[in-house]
Amino acid sequence: MEIKLFEQLELSTDLKKAIIDMGFEKTTPIQGMAIPHVLEGKDIIAQAPTGTGKTCAFGIPAIEKIDIASQMPQVLVLCPTRELALQISRELKKLCKYKRNINILPIYGGESIERQITALKRKPQIIVGTPGRVMDHIRRKTLKLQEIKTLVLDEADEMLNMGFREDIDIILETIPQDKQFILFSATLPKAILDIANKYQKESAVRISATPKTITVPTIEQFYLDVYEDKKTEVLSRLIDANHFKLMLIFCNTKRKVDDLYKELLLRGYRIDALHGDMKQMQRDSVMNKFRKGLVDILIATDVAARGIDVDDVEAVFNYDIPSEQEYYVHRIGRTGRANRKGVAYSLISGKEIYKLREIERYTKTKIQKISPPSMEDIKENKIKSIIDEIKVEISKENTSKYLGYVDNLINEISADKNITSYEITAAFLSKSINNLTIGSSSKVRSDELEVNRDKGMINDKRYARLFINLGSKDKLQTAQLLKLIINNTSVKQKEMGKLDMLEKFSFFEVPKYHVEDVIESLKTKKFKGRKINIEVANKKNR
Ligand code: ADP
Ligand code: MG
Repeated sequence: MEIKLFEQLELSTDLKKAIIDMGFEKTTPIQGMAIPHVLEGKDIIAQAPTGTGKTCAFGIPAIEKIDIASQMPQVLVLCPTRELALQISRELKKLCKYKRNINILPIYGGESIERQITALKRKPQIIVGTPGRVMDHIRRKTLKLQEIKTLVLDEADEMLNMGFREDIDIILETIPQDKQFILFSATLPKAILDIANKYQKESAVRISATPKTITVPTIEQFYLDVYEDKKTEVLSRLIDANHFKLMLIFCNTKRKVDDLYKELLLRGYRIDALHGDMKQMQRDSVMNKFRKGLVDILIATDVAARGIDVDDVEAVFNYDIPSEQEYYVHRIGRTGRANRKGVAYSLISGKEIYKLREIERYTKTKIQKISPPSMEDIKENKIKSIIDEIKVEISKENTSKYLGYVDNLINEISADKNITSYEITAAFLSKSINNLTIGSSSKVRSDELEVNRDKGMINDKRYARLFINLGSKDKLQTAQLLKLIINNTSVKQKEMGKLDMLEKFSFFEVPKYHVEDVIESLKTKKFKGRKINIEVANKKNR
């Protein structure tokens, strides 16, 4: 069997201890297959999709073989992007936790070359770099490769797609012939096999960790058939009806990423966007916020999302269906990593269903159709999370200072009605749940909404104008009407738009996502015995 216990592998205690600290017990299949061969010194050509644990597959044996006495670069890892270089370095550093004398240096374009030259003088034994920048250092003679014992090409197909073929050839020619050459690639097109044939030893071992069904079995896949202009609403409901920690949303174009980002920000989600044309520093800062849980949702295009590596992504949303089937696999592969559970939702409108069917054939999986969550589902979820929060409060055992209030409340109400704490708890629950609207669950940030409004970021398209049959003739002040709206709906004072009071009726503006709730909540109310009539203002009554 390809999966082994790390305990069974012939590794030094230092490394085993670090692996235990990282929380790994069993190898992934690719690790189980590759590590013994790499330790033996064999060349490897391995096909494996993302999330299969390739970094440790080459990292563990490569670290094991480092000669600490020598201070020349001994391992060179080439990978396509700066993010990957940083990610791989991070993972390797964790593996070296108990090997203090091993230095790892990532080098990539976009960072000052002087800084890298200084860092190279500190004699790192492991270099993780992008081909362009590695070439640069070779030309400047600031990186010496004569002692390289292990060369790794990670995501080789991606590097070729990005036009690094020539750089890779030159680097391969520069490195000593007798090195060990490890090649990892998600796909094995002819160009990759050519490189393998040209530069690998005949004894090279070919490994494939491509699962029979291409997608990872721990990912549940669903699709929803919706109108294009309802996608954002349905997406919000999916987010609110579940309890996902970190989420990724994919759009096909930058434009859509931008629009959706603003839309969701307005709805109060903690969200950020990744762009292909972002400066590296900005990308890093976004990724860091995401990793630290300071934002819950990240929106990106396929290109911009390259190199995202976060383990706890619990859900991936395809706002639209990707143009390439392979992208679908890549997208949903961002969740369910390292055998965690993951969910993927695709929003399909109109003809996109044909693309979805193609994806099903390509991945040999059935993507299950579901309906959008209802308000009831969302309420249900909200109640559950409130109850969870209450349980946490109780476990903290610091509720005592509120007990007095509860006593008073019971005494007060029991005077004319026999009320129990049981009913009071239910009343609290009912009160908290009444404040519910889509997109403003626990993640609401109306302060942000306000700030954005001040900056004029919201154009009026995001607000809806409502008609209500109450006016100055009803002996009503503007402030009273405002209070009526705010007290009976989930609209907050600072979210209110314009309010125009006329004699017999009034108009007021609220963010569009509150409209349903405002109408539902107010139409059952009465004012001075008269039934309230409320509706979206149309041209006629405007
Ligand atoms: P790939 O390069 O194939 O996309 P990575 O090397 O980035 O995959 O690994 C994906 C994630 O799985 C990483 O966060 C890594 O820490 C984790 N991982 C790697 N090996 C194991 C293992 N044996 N058990 C559990 N998690 C692992
Ligand atoms: Mg990788």
